Amino acid sequence: MTQVLDKETASHAPVSNLLKGKTGLILGVANKWSIAWAIAQALSTAGMRLVFTYQGERFKKNLDGLVDGMENVLMYPCDVTDEAQIKEMIQSLGGEVDALDCIVHSVAFAKKEELAGEFLNTSKEGYLLAQEISSYSLTAVCREALPLMEKAESASVITLTYLGGEKVVTNYNVMGVAKAALEMSVRYLAEDLGPRNIRVNAISAGPIKTLAASGVSGFSAILDTMKEKAPLRRNVDASDVADTALFLASHLSRGITGEVIHVDAGYHIKGY
Ligand code: NAD
Repeated sequence: MTQVLDKETASHAPVSNLLKGKTGLILGVANKWSIAWAIAQALSTAGMRLVFTYQGERFKKNLDGLVDGMENVLMYPCDVTDEAQIKEMIQSLGGEVDALDCIVHSVAFAKKEELAGEFLNTSKEGYLLAQEISSYSLTAVCREALPLMEKAESASVITLTYLGGEKVVTNYNVMGVAKAALEMSVRYLAEDLGPRNIRVNAISAGPIKTLAASGVSGFSAILDTMKEKAPLRRNVDASDVADTALFLASHLSRGITGEVIHVDAGYHIKGY
């Protein structure tokens, strides 16, 4: 039986000051199961001041409850399909903080009907919507936030991707194509922003039960297959991803950019 680290062993105690004095912008907390929320907790425990965005009032309510007790938190509405909202959010943020050291882009969407059946049937509208929200938004946010990131000594941008952007995963369909574009955007952005000491990386997370994941038809079967076949013979959880995000947000990863790091118990190396 594979031993999974218990919460105590995996505590962030030794890194409690790793991100002290730094500010991070987190896009994509919908609820307590969101990967972005696990990342936010890891970054906060390491001393980072957090700024959250939310997509609409429903998610604001969830966020209000979650951040209760966190110090100095800022929150802004931001639907990434509305470039004016991205601009406004960054402008408001610029009035509150001196610099931005980190962005966590944990945002994706595709219509439920496009996440089942044949990719062949993807609608033009559904294709463009998935690309706009799940891929293009990273570039849009980086561009708007650039002046604030340039004010930091260095900055780290982290996005979330999935194996379905590299290989065909049944039902992942249009989202897989969006993730492929996202991963390539990471490389182009890394090249553009590197000279400004801004790093851009992606975490390719294994399947985790979240709101977004519930839209993918047959998701439980994906979880079962991974548990059976991944080298570590287990699924990953959001804290596995969060600890890698903590590394990417910190100077410990200062030599890494343009990378896609798999946090999937090794599943992606399997050839069957
Ligand atoms: P989630 O549903 O908790 O998070 C998705 C977030 O995207 C939500 O907060 C939602 O508000 C936001 N979003 C969607 N449309 C938006 C819009 N127009 N404007 C602003 N925000 C918008 O699910 P999650 O699984 O935590 O997903 C986070 C990221 O992780 C996504 O990029 C997802 O593809 C990726 N990912 C998830 C898994 C998994 O199995 N859960 C695996 C690999 C990668």
